[in-house]
Amino acid sequence: MAYDPNNIFAKILRGEIPCNKAYEDEYALAFHDITPQAPVHVLVIPKGEYVSFDDFSSSAPAAEVVGFYRAVQKVAAQLGLQPGGYRALSNVGRDAHQVVRHYHLHLFAGCDLGRMVKKGLAPDG
Ligand code: AMP
Repeated sequence: MAYDPNNIFAKILRGEIPCNKAYEDEYALAFHDITPQAPVHVLVIPKGEYVSFDDFSSSAPAAEVVGFYRAVQKVAAQLGLQPGGYRALSNVGRDAHQVVRHYHLHLFAGCDLGRMVKKGLAPDG
């Protein structure tokens, strides 16, 4: 799928719409999710134009990949997400209900986050 430069996160990166910023460096921007699903719910996005985790992982230059994931760890450290821990999650495509087509990693924290995937989806239940 082609990247749409008018997606909402592209507009945030260009400063056309505001965000509640948590962290920014050369490779990444992190901001609080507008509809938080946990006490801490932050989105970390790369500065480059990538549709999804799948696109980023296959297409981004190595320096951008390393820079991005180092930034994710810095976000977690700055927000004090250890030692309680956190969940890093990325939705890719239809089955995962990806809504925004600019790669983003959700960071959830601040409580017991429960099971990884809702119960009953595995073949053996
Ligand atoms: P996904 O379903 O993985 O594509 O998640 C998209 C996320 O972006 C959702 O959790 C939304 O609440 C969040 N979101 C959408 N618009 C904004 C915005 N303007 N600022 C912050 N978060 C947003």
